[in-house]
Amino acid sequence: MRHLVDTLEKNRTLSREEFSTLLTTDDKETEEHLFSRARDTATKNFGRDIYLRGLIEFSNYCKQNCLYCGLRRDNRDLERYRLSKEEILECCKEGHRLGFRTFVLQSGEDDYYTKEKMAEIIRAIRAEYSDCAITVSVGEKDEDTYRTYYEAGANRFLLRHETVSPEHYRKLHPLGMEIETRKECLYRLKNIGFQTGSGIMVGSPFQTIDNIIDDLYFLAELQPEMIGIGPYLPSKDTPFRDHDAGSVDLTLRLIAVFRLMHPDALIPATTALATIHPTGREKGILAGANVVMPNLSPLRVREKYQLYDNKACTKDEAAHCRGCLQRRLEAIGYTISEQRGDHVSRAGH
Ligand code: SAH
Ligand code: SF4
Repeated sequence: MRHLVDTLEKNRTLSREEFSTLLTTDDKETEEHLFSRARDTATKNFGRDIYLRGLIEFSNYCKQNCLYCGLRRDNRDLERYRLSKEEILECCKEGHRLGFRTFVLQSGEDDYYTKEKMAEIIRAIRAEYSDCAITVSVGEKDEDTYRTYYEAGANRFLLRHETVSPEHYRKLHPLGMEIETRKECLYRLKNIGFQTGSGIMVGSPFQTIDNIIDDLYFLAELQPEMIGIGPYLPSKDTPFRDHDAGSVDLTLRLIAVFRLMHPDALIPATTALATIHPTGREKGILAGANVVMPNLSPLRVREKYQLYDNKACTKDEAAHCRGCLQRRLEAIGYTISEQRGDHVSRAGH
């Protein structure tokens, strides 16, 4: 069955049946071959460098009600917080001192941060840190708003599509949220010029292998610059509290499959993966990921940004995480890069 991996590497795609076999086979040798080819592809493009992104979770208010997420509007058991522009700039200052050259501004969908307020925050970071990339991850917005962020100096945007199947999407979201809106947002972002990230949760409630294969084809069409995939993890404060977490193994296989389909993409070994397995980040890197996203948020708010339960590293200072990650990555033969790590198209490789 190793030939499926070789065909995927060569053609950057497979048939539905072939994808299904590769994602579900019990054959460990094929799995090892998949990880090994994905790892080699990442090394060929990025060497042994892993890019760092500093995550700043600046608000846990959210007007949306995604059924899987602990920040959802209807969760009354969560103490909400917002960071001021000054507090966000403090996080950047600490991050910059520690060698971070990308800041990721992430939040729930919080209308307190109007278009103008966000632009002001982005402009302030841009003015002080001209050598850094600014990534925004604040959900669905209109064209004008995205464009304002871009013109203020943001370079990248993360918006996972979660699942491309309309039926599955409706099972994960309340009435009124549609995959079509999400897709429009993604094409809008690409069109404006953002390096755009999308992706899925692996093992989200009701997800089938067929759904995942649709996601593989959708991302082949979208050609995102970044691909975020992590296991679904239950949050006690959501209607999905009793659903099982996603599988580590399937998450790793998908990282590897995405790496072979998108050799140049920036693929993080996610916090969710680190949460579900003590060496999840390392496993992600060894399956072809090339980005890590430690937390730069102030310690006092960390526990409140609870997308899911037991999130890894919520009690660790950024400096501690930086050191810990460096040791862990060096132990598997990788190093942390202090470059911005922009997406560079190496088409033709
Ligand atoms: N509000 C923004 C950004 C914050 S949520 C947005 O929705 O895009 C960021 C990501 O966290 C989501 O895209 C989702 O894929 C992930 N997430 C939310 N709840 C999760 C859970 N229970 N398990 C794993 N990942 C989750
Ligand atoms: Fe809000 Fe994002 Fe969570 Fe949905 S996934 S409830 S939009 S924070």
